Amino acid sequence: APHRDADVHELLDSTLLMLSGKIGRRVKVVKEYDRTLPEVPAYPAELNQVWTNLIDNAVSAIGSAGGDGTLTVRTAREGDRLLVEFRDTGPGVPEEIRDRIFDPFFTTKPVGEGTGLGLDISWRIVVNKHHGSLQVESVPGDTRFRVLLPLTDPEG
Ligand code: ADP
Ligand code: MG
Repeated sequence: APHRDADVHELLDSTLLMLSGKIGRRVKVVKEYDRTLPEVPAYPAELNQVWTNLIDNAVSAIGSAGGDGTLTVRTAREGDRLLVEFRDTGPGVPEEIRDRIFDPFFTTKPVGEGTGLGLDISWRIVVNKHHGSLQVESVPGDTRFRVLLPLTDPEG
């Protein structure tokens, strides 16, 4: 079971800080945090890897559409789970590839730029290690990757 309670906002802030160079000045970052949310049972290093993958994808999506855009990171309570949502204003995930993006080695990026492992690893960390879920909703200009984490240890 996840071995400690973590404040997701602290983890998000440290990842955003670490990626500030990559995010650059053309991507506006908006934080919509619900600071009243409790800590959740977590593997913090692994969750940081998930945030890193999702932020990296959002920034490249925005970049592929010319460069300027907004990344919104939102937290909220959804029933007995905590939602961390990454929303970008990029071109979106085309419908015809949506059920393949979580497959290992699936990438639409040029050789050398994408390994196609980010979402596969993120899925395994969220679903297998945290008993959470990872969802995508996407239309051009509004793509949301949603991470739902149990608020209490599912293994007791
Ligand atoms: P990689 O980033 O190395 O391509 P990922 O597993 O992280 O591998 O993502 C797989 C694919 O999913 C990407 O190549 C891209 O086609 C699509 N994708 C992921 N995130 C987004 C996003 N925010 N907007 C549009 N497409 C995305
Ligand atoms: Mg990626």
